[in-house]
Amino acid sequence: MINLKQLIREVPDFPKPGINFYDITTLLKDPAGLKQTIDNFRAHYEGQKIDVVVGIEARGYFFAPTLAYAMGAGFVPVRKPKKLPAAVEFVEYALEYGTDRLEIHKDAILPGQNVLIIDDVLATGGTAAAVASLVEKIGGKVVGMGFVLELDFLNGKDKLSDRPIYSQLHY
Ligand code: AMP
Repeated sequence: MINLKQLIREVPDFPKPGINFYDITTLLKDPAGLKQTIDNFRAHYEGQKIDVVVGIEARGYFFAPTLAYAMGAGFVPVRKPKKLPAAVEFVEYALEYGTDRLEIHKDAILPGQNVLIIDDVLATGGTAAAVASLVEKIGGKVVGMGFVLELDFLNGKDKLSDRPIYSQLHY
């Protein structure tokens, strides 16, 4: 087993002073590290019926489609506004200043399908909570929310109600 934390680069004061940024590109470029990260997710969800893996733009896309392939599930992107060409459902959520918006194709998930949501980092949980509500809005059942790493001190879990969370690493 590799110590994945050793492969994650911490960049102080990015993108602004006071933020310690967890850079997963150094994990992605490491063949054994990438394999173990995907394998950890796959092992955790082994035996669960998962129809669709949803990835959150943009860093969720680094993991979600690979995991979907490994699990024999489909992949669905949640995107920033005005990127998806067909009819969309959207969610708006609060940022530190102002609001942000994410979209999903209305027909991307069928009512009752089991959905696993994947992102790289669980920080304040605002993004993940918005995506979970978006999936539920179009009838998906959120059976899991998986993250490579979680920043425990931000208590992002509290925003995700009782949806099952799995974070590979904790800081
Ligand atoms: P959140 O505060 O949980 O809504 O996080 C918003 C997004 O920003 C997540 O998708 C994370 O990928 C990313 N993010 C937040 N904080 C960090 C951090 N310290 N390092 C790297 N990515 C972060």
